[in-house]
Amino acid sequence: MSHGRCDHCCKKEKHRYKYCCDDKPTKKCCPAIDDAVCYNRDVYQCKFKEEWARLPIPPGKKIAIITCMDARVDIWRALGVCIGDVHTIRNAGGVVTDDVIRSLTISQRLLATEEIMVVHHFDCGMRTFDTCEFNKQMEDELCQRPEFAMEAFEESAANVKENVMRILRNPFVKHKKCVRGFVYMDVDGCVEGTEYKAGELAEVCLDKIFEKACTKADFCKDDCDEEEHCDKEYQCCRYECDDDRDSDCKSD
Ligand code: ZN
Repeated sequence: MSHGRCDHCCKKEKHRYKYCCDDKPTKKCCPAIDDAVCYNRDVYQCKFKEEWARLPIPPGKKIAIITCMDARVDIWRALGVCIGDVHTIRNAGGVVTDDVIRSLTISQRLLATEEIMVVHHFDCGMRTFDTCEFNKQMEDELCQRPEFAMEAFEESAANVKENVMRILRNPFVKHKKCVRGFVYMDVDGCVEGTEYKAGELAEVCLDKIFEKACTKADFCKDDCDEEEHCDKEYQCCRYECDDDRDSDCKSD
């Protein structure tokens, strides 16, 4: 057994980081978590910078990014942002669920973010399975279907639009003028008729989505600060939009 100086950290004495020495963690039921905990103690803690802890809680760039949990998507590096810069809200697919709305509401109303990026990615796992089939498998195994929507999708740009629409139609999200949608190209591919290289961000055209959404911020022509006035106009506009949508459905 070798317990010499570690190649990865500053410690001379033996420690438990699996890849550094032979002294294995004592809890063996979760080997990957044990590795992470040991890494934190033996490598990261030595490099921790005091200024990170002293950063203000509101993100410096005032942006909230909604993106997929995919382990391969390094969204901070792709966008050139650092610790303290942005809120990153992630789930399977980067879908705007109720919980994402909850996070956005807190992000904007309590922590001063004003811009929202919805960033899906081209090679997303959510495009690789069929919701009905998956639900059926679980029903066979568990005798129940999940009460939540899986939100699998076929086409990234269309899914970005649908999710942006959910943001624009939600009254709790305060700032809606700077909502933009993208497909991050983790492989070469085509988005809305244009070819993109791996690593690029393909911006999704949201003009029609904004037209349809009738947000409070866009609708209030007086650009006033009176909540009551804006709310009233917004509610009227929302009902009109709902009527439009209903008639769209009926005509199909
Ligand atoms: Zn994904």
